[in-house]
Amino acid sequence: MDIRLKKYALADLPRYTSFPTAVQFHGEVGEVEYRRWLANIAPQEPLSLYLHIPFCQQMCWYCGCHTSVAHSYERVGAYVLDLLREIDLLAAALPAHHGGLAHVHFGGGSPTLLSDTDFAAISAKIMEKFGARSEMELAVEIDPRTMSKTKALALAAAGVTRASLGVQDFNEHVQKKINRIQPFSQVKQSVDWLRSAGINAINFDLIYGLPGQSVTDVERSTALAASLQPDRLAVFGYAHVPWFKKHQSMIKDADLPGMEDRFAQAQMVGAGLEKAGYVAIGFDHYAKPDDSMALAAKRGKLRRNFQGYTTDAADTLLGLGASSIGAMEAGYVQNAPSMDGWRDAIHGGNLPIVRGVTLVGEDKMRRAAIMTLMSAMVLDLAAHCQTFGATPAALDDALIKLAPLADDGLVELDGRQIKVTAQGRLFVRNIAACFDTYLQADAGRHSKAV
Ligand code: SF4
Repeated sequence: MDIRLKKYALADLPRYTSFPTAVQFHGEVGEVEYRRWLANIAPQEPLSLYLHIPFCQQMCWYCGCHTSVAHSYERVGAYVLDLLREIDLLAAALPAHHGGLAHVHFGGGSPTLLSDTDFAAISAKIMEKFGARSEMELAVEIDPRTMSKTKALALAAAGVTRASLGVQDFNEHVQKKINRIQPFSQVKQSVDWLRSAGINAINFDLIYGLPGQSVTDVERSTALAASLQPDRLAVFGYAHVPWFKKHQSMIKDADLPGMEDRFAQAQMVGAGLEKAGYVAIGFDHYAKPDDSMALAAKRGKLRRNFQGYTTDAADTLLGLGASSIGAMEAGYVQNAPSMDGWRDAIHGGNLPIVRGVTLVGEDKMRRAAIMTLMSAMVLDLAAHCQTFGATPAALDDALIKLAPLADDGLVELDGRQIKVTAQGRLFVRNIAACFDTYLQADAGRHSKAV
């Protein structure tokens, strides 16, 4: 790696799935603000939903999600009943006329741990309460170890159109170190079942920087993943934060690839996928050239939300389930992460919001600048500021911060025109950070840029 780039790769930075980021959420934004924002949703405005299922069959040591091992289905079944109650509460807080659902995402945890009956009940409830737009996409995160032919058919019958499979790495010695044994044959079988059931939009998640993982391992996993022809792949660098996620202490520091190796692995995934015919999207996604995400990126219509890059065009994302986050024009809200706090609020007839942040001052202008740069990789800063009613120079503080990144080849600056270079694509979080007036240099609050 070029010596000048090391400082960028080592920086602890947000992923900018929101702005302000979750670090800025606080307890003064709660249910009262959320109900006011919900009441202000315009007639015919499309909505998106995120439903969090915080249970897994066993813990993967690398996991950074809000989840726990279910042990018995009793806990999961009780959670589903409360989730159905929360859907009722949220629907009652919305104006009578809204535009219906554009996008639904079941995440976790492992939504495929739900019984087929429970999944169908949740899906039926959201359709009954919110209604579906004709273009609605219903996406589900899939743990291949919990899949069966019957489950694939049940997901399709419940309206699922997109399946996102956690693949991570196909090498057994790496899988052992992360407590996730999942042979290639199991992933292939899951994909075959899903496609046979009519769920043809397939996403994979891959991870580099895992314990024991080498560049050769990454090359092999990438080639095997591409051989199954997923439509999209998201590629993440493992974030080792054992002080924050206790189970990650099962991973030995000594087994983790160093920064140079992580960088080489990230480049290897990109090279492997591009060789297989995928196009790079943003800094961590790849898609077939004719996939709707690749087309949206080409048209500058790509967005970012808490799942990363998305084609979802709705401005309002409503969260359901413990710990879920909602994003609205006015700000962000988060449900109680603790199961008890979440359940008690719902049983009391309350929306279980515990924190959030209201967008103030230049936040919307800065948020849009960050999202545009991370998606389109170009920004006409003067025109951007003017669309927000500000002077062309309103965000020039960011230009000053970008100057050294331009010297290092990550961006090209032409007056107030900003263009991320091919080299800068992997470091676009460092570029976005130049617009982040809240960013604090606290190590450990965020993940490494690469
Ligand atoms: S299946 Fe996913 S959510 Fe569950 S422990 Fe593994 S990585 Fe975490």
